[in-house]
Amino acid sequence: MEILSTVFLKPGQADRIIAGHPWIYHGTLARLNRPTPDGEIVEIKDDRAHFVGVGFYNSRSKIYVRVLSHERVAIDEAFFETRIRAALEVRKKHLPDATSFRVVNAESDFLSGLIVDKYEDVLVLQTSALGMDQRKPMILSVLKKIFSPRAIVERNEMASRKFEGLPDANGVLEGEFAGTVPIKLNTLSFDVDLIGGHKTGLYLDQQVNYQRVAELVARTPGAQMLDCFSFLGGFGLHAARAGAAHVHMLDQSEDAIAAAKKNAETNGLAEKCSYEAANVFDWLKAQTITQPHEKLIPRFDFIILDPPSFTRSRAAIPDALRGYKEIHLRALKLLKPGGTLATFCCSHHIDAVTFQDAILSAAYDARKILRRVATFSQSPDHPIIPMIPETEYLKGFAYELVR
Ligand code: SAH
Repeated sequence: MEILSTVFLKPGQADRIIAGHPWIYHGTLARLNRPTPDGEIVEIKDDRAHFVGVGFYNSRSKIYVRVLSHERVAIDEAFFETRIRAALEVRKKHLPDATSFRVVNAESDFLSGLIVDKYEDVLVLQTSALGMDQRKPMILSVLKKIFSPRAIVERNEMASRKFEGLPDANGVLEGEFAGTVPIKLNTLSFDVDLIGGHKTGLYLDQQVNYQRVAELVARTPGAQMLDCFSFLGGFGLHAARAGAAHVHMLDQSEDAIAAAKKNAETNGLAEKCSYEAANVFDWLKAQTITQPHEKLIPRFDFIILDPPSFTRSRAAIPDALRGYKEIHLRALKLLKPGGTLATFCCSHHIDAVTFQDAILSAAYDARKILRRVATFSQSPDHPIIPMIPETEYLKGFAYELVR
């Protein structure tokens, strides 16, 4: 095996790594034994020169080393094949019927800096670490071998690439592909824009929750539903199929609304759906403002709140919490007694307890009492590794309005 450069950790810094966290920050390193090009594999040793693992080195990143293995293995095609096949087995076990799902979720699958999504027979690749990006040809070769995809598309325009010194890149890497791909989620059809859409095209992390929310909707036959931040109509269309009488979808993006409308038509659910391109904050406010002598009549039996992350940093948490409280306060005013609110938060920086506190604070202001009937997490193709807290981000609750 080739001789690798070695990074030595400061005393006490190896424990986190041995326990499974893959990020080594600059401040935890004592030294590097020789000049090393960025992106190269290095050996990691503790302060007493005991071997800890191997990983990608990048002096330009805040994460100096991303640990790939705790064993002295070569990071070659066979390594990637083993890891990607292991990740695929997790999906086959926990999402046995899914045909579109996240195959590799970076740290969740012990491949820091690599995301691979499967949209039926098309794969979408994201490499957010320099070392991973440099090994793209190796990864592509493995993906072709395992999946024989029609095409592999790259969606590399994440902010995180800048911190690694990587430029944006977007396009078809392998095969023939243009525009959208029709995919199935829980047997409903969605047309997904893999080149221009959000994330890598769709929010695959809600796949299981669409179904679980639909089960709650089915227990409220004939529900009038409001789907806030509807995007392609994931929650709304599952609800319409499950027995909602009507679903009103709200999203500020005209493109998202147009796509949701098309998806409703494809699934034969258009008659039950209406759509509005609007800012949810403004819309909810306009619907809940009353004159002093006026009483607000709640109109919805089921409301979904699935906003984008309101904070990407710890510093912005207070503002984000004010935002969450605001939409919950107004949504609760529009919910009929006995109705259900299903609400989600996809910010890693806000944990479930803090999120629920914001909801309860809104309920207090609105003088409402809630009964919690479900708790949600991310779909199992976004595995949670508790030792890597960053892998847990999506949380949600369903509440019935007692009064
Ligand atoms: N529920 C969707 C995902 C929502 S993602 C699903 O399951 O697929 C967040 C969506 O909110 C995006 O489509 C974005 O266009 C929209 N959005 C962001 N801010 C908004 C706002 N203030 N008002 C309305 N829509 C907003």
